[in-house]
Amino acid sequence: MSGTTRNAPVFRFAPSPNGALHLGHAYSALLNAGMASRAGGRLLLRIEDIDAARCTPEYEAGILRDLAWLGIAWEEPVRRQSDHLHEYEQALARLVADELVYPAFMSRGETRAHIAELEDRGRACPRDPDGAPIYPGLDKALGQRERRRRMSEAEPFAWRLDTDAAIAAAGPLHWREFSGEDMLRADTIAARPQDWGDVVLARRDVPTSYHLSVVTDDALQGVTHVVRGLDLRPATSIHRLLQRLLGLPEPAYFHHRLILGPDGRKLSKSLRDTGLATLRDAGHTPGDIRKTVGL
Ligand code: GLU
Repeated sequence: MSGTTRNAPVFRFAPSPNGALHLGHAYSALLNAGMASRAGGRLLLRIEDIDAARCTPEYEAGILRDLAWLGIAWEEPVRRQSDHLHEYEQALARLVADELVYPAFMSRGETRAHIAELEDRGRACPRDPDGAPIYPGLDKALGQRERRRRMSEAEPFAWRLDTDAAIAAAGPLHWREFSGEDMLRADTIAARPQDWGDVVLARRDVPTSYHLSVVTDDALQGVTHVVRGLDLRPATSIHRLLQRLLGLPEPAYFHHRLILGPDGRKLSKSLRDTGLATLRDAGHTPGDIRKTVGL
């Protein structure tokens, strides 16, 4: 981008190509572009495609087409997460060496069954901020020898963060959160990573996770301003924790309102009538889209 310096603020829009972009994405992308431009900053585009089972090149092409149609200009090259698995593995290796992660051998199905059994017996299983049951931490109790044996037998496992140990190592954490898109005022928010329990940092099938890839990329790309939906605000607690553990810089955050559907619920990628391509084909202009999302 011309007219910007190396110290200019860096914003990013980071969609996952597991569906078509809808009005909520348009709002987020346009907001990032507008904030970057008003701040004399740069806008990066990152394709978050670590989930090979759900992400497709067709969706990625659709994202680029929709963003260009909206008039959004991003810097090249686009960063595609599936091209950078090695960098996430390096970040993970550091946490392994620091003994802040442990291998969890229980599959998702086994974990679900275990939680259902606990609940049947009247045990309350706390939920994380997304409403999912917190991992009961069974595999954390395995001895080193047992772990090594199962790993050497190539039993599949995910790496989970030992969140209590990580919090003890990191100490109290906060982040700077802008209260409006004008970025005139910021509050200091206390992070609560304990609300998430032992999150997965590297999945059985992919050597990383959303949390690990996002903090690694934001640091490697020099992102200074993370602007994303309010639905991701609770995840910032885990991101701050990982940034501290990995010695990464701390961006400022703005979590914007969500665009809701006519039923008052968050838009989903399967809601075709709010899809950008569908709206474009029906004759809507980029100006109409801006108006619809209140920009
Ligand atoms: N890839 C995430 C999504 O599409 C956004 C990640 C982020 O902005 O931190 O919801």
